[in-house]
Amino acid sequence: MQTDPSALVRNVNDLVEGLKSGDRRAIARLISLVEDGAPQASAVLREVYPLTGHASTVGLTGAPGAGKSTIIDGLVKRMRAADMSVGVIACDPTSPFSGGALLGDRVRMQEHALDEKVFIRSMATRGHLGGLSLAAPEAMRVLEAGGSQVVVVETVGVGQSEVEVARQADTTIVVLAPGMGDAVQAAKAGILEVADIFCVNKSDKEGTKSVARDLRGMLELGHGRDVDWTPPIIVTSATSDTGLDELWDAIRSHEQHLRSEGRLEARRRERLGFEIREIVGERMKQALDQAAGDAFEKVTDEVLERKIDPYTAAAELLERFGLGSVSP
Ligand code: GDP
Repeated sequence: MQTDPSALVRNVNDLVEGLKSGDRRAIARLISLVEDGAPQASAVLREVYPLTGHASTVGLTGAPGAGKSTIIDGLVKRMRAADMSVGVIACDPTSPFSGGALLGDRVRMQEHALDEKVFIRSMATRGHLGGLSLAAPEAMRVLEAGGSQVVVVETVGVGQSEVEVARQADTTIVVLAPGMGDAVQAAKAGILEVADIFCVNKSDKEGTKSVARDLRGMLELGHGRDVDWTPPIIVTSATSDTGLDELWDAIRSHEQHLRSEGRLEARRRERLGFEIREIVGERMKQALDQAAGDAFEKVTDEVLERKIDPYTAAAELLERFGLGSVSP
């Protein structure tokens, strides 16, 4: 591994030059750097960020097996038919046991593999300290800088950070299917309020009508995230390519909705605020571990010996960071 910082930055610059000319290997390599939380990752972002801001982003979340990747496959076809270049990030849960196998194979999407206007990438958060919530938006920006006009991100709707990643897109689709992630489960998982669009998939099977009906009932109780937009409920059968035109229309309508009255900017502002807070939080945790290592041990000893309480210990550490005036 290279350790000379200037060599690392030169390397990043070369990759970014490749990225600008749409070199797929450069794109893949840059995403890996981000995913690994490599020392060059912040240099990557510095170079890549100015090249972004124009792409539309779509997030899909829902229970494993609901049909998200099959739906994305159908959506990618439609995006390509509209002559849009597409990037897809499918987030694998970071699990030492499944090794990302939970999402199964992505053979379906391989028909797009030869299309140079489509870039599909499975991503885990191997070394990134900020986890998925920071790695995913970075990877999405790499795709955007590499020329994708639409960037789709898929996450399993089971953990807060996964749902949050999908929520950070311009348009968020929550995918439900009978038996796997019905409306009640979705409400419990807290994913109803993140949806701009609901997709009830597997309409070829029993039960989609009742999922849609339950969902409608819950929406009437006012779960929406945008007072001016009632999330449409689109019923699909992704494997038989049914309802996906309607889903694609709903995505475009939502995009138009966002593009009026400054909503898109407001949403992106909120998202950046979230991201910056996450980064600051991560850096502070790192700083605590690195700089305050000894001090941390020392106050922990004092707490253990009951000389001080945990809050006083925390206050002492914050004082060291110049944050002593932050009150609880
Ligand atoms: P994901 O885990 O949400 O990405 O779900 P997948 O797209 O991998 O789909 C899980 C399984 O459900 C696969 O075997 C798909 O072929 C199947 N599937 C997806 N959509 C449908 C559908 O509309 N109807 C039926 N019957 N099966 C579907």
